[in-house]
Amino acid sequence: MNADDPVGILSGVGPSFAQKLKSLGINTIEDLLLHVPSRHIDFRNKVAISELKIGEDVTIAGQVVSIDNVFTKNGKNIQLAKISDGEHEVDAIWMRQPYLPKILPPGSFISLSGKLSFWGKKRAFVFPVFEKFSEETIHTGRLVPVYPETAGVNSKWFRKKVAEVLHNTQLNDFVDESILGSFSFVNYQTALQKVHKPENIEDFAVGIKRLAFNELLLMQIQWAFKKLWWSENSKSHKLTLTESHLDQFIKSLPFSLTQSQVAAINEVRADIDKPVPMNRLLEGDVGSGKTVVAATGAYATFVNEKKAVFLAPTQILAQQHYETLTRVLGGFNARISLITSEGMVSGLGSHDIVVGTHALLYHEDIVKDAAFLVIDEQHRFGVGQRAKIAKLASRGKANPHILTMTATPIPRTIALTIYGDLELSTLHELPHGRLKTKTWVVPSSKRESAQKWIAEQIEKNGAQVFVVCPLIEESEAESLSTVKAATVEFKRLSKVFSKYSLALLHGRMKAKEKNQIISDFKDKKYDILVTTPVIEVGIDIADATIIVIEAAERFGLAQLHQLRGRVGRSAKQSYCLLFSDTKSKIAKKRLQALTKSTSGKELAEMDLEIRGPGEILGLRQHGAAELKIAHWNDYELIKLSRELAHEVVHDQEKYKKIISYYRKKQVSPN
Ligand code: ADP
Ligand code: MG
Repeated sequence: MNADDPVGILSGVGPSFAQKLKSLGINTIEDLLLHVPSRHIDFRNKVAISELKIGEDVTIAGQVVSIDNVFTKNGKNIQLAKISDGEHEVDAIWMRQPYLPKILPPGSFISLSGKLSFWGKKRAFVFPVFEKFSEETIHTGRLVPVYPETAGVNSKWFRKKVAEVLHNTQLNDFVDESILGSFSFVNYQTALQKVHKPENIEDFAVGIKRLAFNELLLMQIQWAFKKLWWSENSKSHKLTLTESHLDQFIKSLPFSLTQSQVAAINEVRADIDKPVPMNRLLEGDVGSGKTVVAATGAYATFVNEKKAVFLAPTQILAQQHYETLTRVLGGFNARISLITSEGMVSGLGSHDIVVGTHALLYHEDIVKDAAFLVIDEQHRFGVGQRAKIAKLASRGKANPHILTMTATPIPRTIALTIYGDLELSTLHELPHGRLKTKTWVVPSSKRESAQKWIAEQIEKNGAQVFVVCPLIEESEAESLSTVKAATVEFKRLSKVFSKYSLALLHGRMKAKEKNQIISDFKDKKYDILVTTPVIEVGIDIADATIIVIEAAERFGLAQLHQLRGRVGRSAKQSYCLLFSDTKSKIAKKRLQALTKSTSGKELAEMDLEIRGPGEILGLRQHGAAELKIAHWNDYELIKLSRELAHEVVHDQEKYKKIISYYRKKQVSPN
């Protein structure tokens, strides 16, 4: 048998059975071998019948003394057998397998694995796994593999076929001995043996490690090819930012940069100084100061007399970036425009820097010759939208340098795997002098005293307060009922806080109205801003120090963390009050987590524990291939595979075997 043969060559695998296997991703003999067990049952403990104890997983070997089809009093069909090991006897019972007496007639030698338990008052092996005894058993007497199953293909089938295939197939390794040795990996064939027929648990781990490496290696080679292609086939404008220009820019800022910001700026600067497009992801917790890193890139673009484009997910955020960039770069005479669904705000005809929402996707003329493209809060855009803007920007003579930004703390290992074609910069720290936002969960019994405390904070410290009303419907978009709820809450709070001035902000207002309210709030014309979660992303009002989140249990952990990030943006102490009466254990855990930590990374780790990775990171949404054998947190393996992949694509002659295996396996490049 060859690794590439279709499973159809196996006896008993006709077209319809092959279809079932296909639904498990199994088309070839090799695929079958890569369908690895999800666990093993330990039936290695072979005992004599006299040693049997109730409830222990064991294997016995013996001879069938008698076996009969029997009907119980309530009409059940059972098979009752007596098994002897020469010295003692024990009963074995199965149900609804009337053919057993034919398969295992008295005198047959068999191996039984299972537990001794009670059948009525009798001690018996109840529904044990059995097979005719031979030197090498498959279903009994060893670490018996249990496979992921689908209707109609069970573990027993896999065990039998995998054993047969392993016996009859010689798989050539596509990785050279010398490399295997240096990583202390076993060869491919041995790995498969150890995974399907381990002698002990360590064996299994050793085998899996090699198979996981193979899986990661193929994935990383794909990324490496993509990068190579990109660097050879796409040109971009070389944007040089001289030391003196950079100094000038940094001096113009109202603060000094954090170390991480400096490092990230240098990484970006080095990337865009090449005629090969940058493709970099900037990760940093809410408030870590990502915008200024992007602004530095925009400044470099401006200095080189090219155009920069900023894409933001909401009108409010686009407006804010527009204001920030105008403040920071206006002094250098850069012309900055804003484009949203409500139209364009701009100076005179041409633009050096364009900021906009998804409305930009409909302005090819403006986007097409961007030399530097920023996608802020990138997870807010679909894969399609991100690809579209990049494509639009590539319509000119060159490809843009792309900087995507996110506050989602994707662990580095995962980022390297799912964003293998991106470079990664991380802001590890918040600007100097930030205090941790104090966070409490407030039940309705304490609502009144909380309101009193808020009034005091406004009175004594001039605090400014956000009150966030929940989304009423499940969808991310703001519905009419959400707006209505916020409006009702606004009226209610206007009475409670009648001494103070309040404003209402929601996504259905006209941009002009929203901008006015936000700028008035910044100017301290309001004490309290009642809003829907439209303020969730990015909005930056340094002096607001209290945020109240109504029905906090309705938000996910990441969203709550983002919302809380609206305060704590200056050196003043900030507070977050999570209003909730939830009884749900999971929701309580989530809220408690927030009171304990202000680090997005720690919270993401807790969330990972509460909900699992797929959901949080929206891996599927990223279009990332699913890993079947390897794990996202296998840092060492990911690193090794990435390094080797890099060597492989840059010296394809030397790694011919790996390349040809990769080509063979590459079914659908994404
Ligand atoms: P985010 O990473 O969440 O996008 P922003 O870029 O909006 O964060 O920055 C948050 C706030 O911190 C802004 O008001 C910004 O001006 C300010 N800021 C950024 N970097 C620094 C710094 N190094 N020192 C002080 N304040 C800073
Ligand atoms: Mg931001």
